[in-house]
Amino acid sequence: MNLRRLPAALATALVALVGLLALPAQAETTGAAKAAAPNFKAPYPCGQKWTYSHHSAEVRRALDFVRSDGGSTAGTPVLASAAGTATRHSQPSGAGNYIVIDHGGGWKTYYFHLSSFSVANGASVAQGRQIGVTGSTGNSSGAHIHYEQLYNGTGQNIRINGSALAYPGSYNQYYLTSDNGCGGSGSPFTTWGTDVRVRADARLNASVVTVLSGPTSVRVLCQKQGDTVNAEGYTNNWWSKLRDQGGFISNIYIDHPASKLPGVPVC
Ligand SMILES: [Zn+2]
Repeated sequence: MNLRRLPAALATALVALVGLLALPAQAETTGAAKAAAPNFKAPYPCGQKWTYSHHSAEVRRALDFVRSDGGSTAGTPVLASAAGTATRHSQPSGAGNYIVIDHGGGWKTYYFHLSSFSVANGASVAQGRQIGVTGSTGNSSGAHIHYEQLYNGTGQNIRINGSALAYPGSYNQYYLTSDNGCGGSGSPFTTWGTDVRVRADARLNASVVTVLSGPTSVRVLCQKQGDTVNAEGYTNNWWSKLRDQGGFISNIYIDHPASKLPGVPVC
């Protein structure tokens, strides 16, 4: 119907009627009674472009994400969409290894098919913190992040930075570039190795503040020389101070060929 061809009064009445009809449905999904959603961000690292789709057999209002920027989907860090409490789960015949983050106020996010976990069960996580590694565990035909936002246990239409995403039936129609973890200070790097100890200072006898179970996206605030470390066939006395983990790791475990990282200030 072309409203411009209708008499103005009738067109106005029609618009008003459509508005009235639309109100109850809108109130059910976005009514004032619902606690405000966190400002969810993409579940993968800053600057990466992924494509997403929804298939009819999918549980709830999930979207599946795969990388579309040339990088490998498998092995990419999975990041917390918003701050909350992360719990580990396993469902070998379905979701595989997955993380649930409880954001409070009735809101949760799900991250399925992880190849490994990057946080302890019950850990408090900041927005942008790595919680796992993208994989294909459980009922999955290939590496992807199966992602959901739930309110009081019911899957919601996914919103990122407050904007609703589309629900296309196949990949490569819609894309989302992440701004998760972009903010704040420090330079982005990825660690490698398993069970890498983060220490309170750049010394091998400094207390362990946390352990990186696998590759982790980190923000390096600064670097300094400390104890010489011999590991993985390398020798290096430079250590990086990690913003989110609150401690130091040997630069051997930063995925970069230089002993002293370029562009990172000395502490
Ligand atoms: Zn899925």
